[in-house]
Amino acid sequence: MPPPRKLRSIPELDAAITDCRACPRLVAWREKVAVEKRAAFRDQEYWGRPVPGFGPADAKLLIVGLAPAAHGANRTGRMFTGDRSGDVLFAALHAVGLANQPTAVHAHDGLALRDTRMSSPVRCAPPANKPTPTERDTCRRWLTAELALLTPTVRAVVVLGGFGWQALLPVLAESGWAVPRPLPRFGHGAHVELPPVAPGREPLHLFGSYHVSQQNTFTGRLTPAMLEDVLRAAADHAGIVTV
Ligand code: SF4
Repeated sequence: MPPPRKLRSIPELDAAITDCRACPRLVAWREKVAVEKRAAFRDQEYWGRPVPGFGPADAKLLIVGLAPAAHGANRTGRMFTGDRSGDVLFAALHAVGLANQPTAVHAHDGLALRDTRMSSPVRCAPPANKPTPTERDTCRRWLTAELALLTPTVRAVVVLGGFGWQALLPVLAESGWAVPRPLPRFGHGAHVELPPVAPGREPLHLFGSYHVSQQNTFTGRLTPAMLEDVLRAAADHAGIVTV
């Protein structure tokens, strides 16, 4: 499904995303959570809408997750902000020099990313963190539009988790990069170089990392060092100097 109109810039895209109501189940869920709230955030106003990407419009590195967390980005309105997954991700981004601070608490906390933008294949918080295949496919139009706008500068993508990996491959294929067959397998540390097949594109380096969910970080399946290694490698291929 294409975006409702031609979007000429990242700010235009971000504004259009926040008005989307294409998935009835997710619209109902994100708004219900925003009204009921978690007790710890009872005095806060929840965002309760689709969450746009975060980071500069001329990013060289794109990080792709899964979907907003019900009491994280669905509360704060900014990707990965206000939950444990974001705590791990932003600490790692700061450790390698891609973020100006290690924490992300709310949308106006001064956090800025360097040459890096983060996005997700599904923009509304899903029940149990599980979008349906139909919701994933419906939301794909936003990631496709975002990638098109980032095409002049983006050179590497880090995908957090198998869901994002599977969701992104068709986006890349329809956006002008050759995706090999059989499809590249997701894994932590996976790295595939995709040659361009459309004008105006450069080779794109695709990296996989285990997702920063508590299921992975609390069990030690994904350590900060493992995440930082993938971010450094991807940044290096994108032409970004890390620390
Ligand atoms: S998940 Fe995506 S397509 Fe569905 S309502 Fe949210 S923004 Fe729209």
